[in-house]
Amino acid sequence: MNLKIDPRGLPDDGLDIEGTLPPSFFELPPTDLTQAISKLEYALNILRDSGDLIITGSLAATFEMECGRCTERFQHRIEIDDYSQEIELENEELVDLTTWLREDILLTLPTYPRCENGNVQPRECPAEGSFDDAPKSVIIEPHQAEDKAVWEALDQLKNLKRN
Ligand SMILES: [Zn+2]
Repeated sequence: MNLKIDPRGLPDDGLDIEGTLPPSFFELPPTDLTQAISKLEYALNILRDSGDLIITGSLAATFEMECGRCTERFQHRIEIDDYSQEIELENEELVDLTTWLREDILLTLPTYPRCENGNVQPRECPAEGSFDDAPKSVIIEPHQAEDKAVWEALDQLKNLKRN
C-alpha cells in the first residue's frame, strides 16, 4: 500500500492520479482516540519542476475521535480541496507520497476535538459549559496546595540545616 512516483517518467503537464486507500493507510495506533473510519480519497496532479515534485489536488477522509468535553465519540470529515506540497528530489529514485499525505492530513485534525465541531452529524456537546461554569478557584486550588506543601518542605529543610 503506497503511492510511489517515478520522477523520471512524469509527463510535462504532470501526472494525474486518483483513487482510494484503506483507513489503515493512516497507521493510527489502535489505542489512539482518533481513528480513520473511511478510505482516503485522493485526486492529485504530480508535476516535476526540475529538482522538485509539485503535488496539488484534493484529499478526503472521515475520522472518528473523542470529544475532549463529554468524552463521547463523534465523526469528523476532513476535506482538503486545495492541497499542495513540494517535495525536493534527492535523486532520481521513486518517491513515496504516503508519508507526506498521511502527515499533511493528520495535521489538519483538531488538537482538542469537540463534538459540536464535528461536521458529519451536527450536535451540541452535552457537557458544554460545565467546565466554564465551575468556579476558577476549584481549578487553581490544587496547584496552590501543592506549592504550599513544597514551600513548607523547603522551610523544614532549612530549619534542619540550622539546627
Ligand atoms: Zn462533546
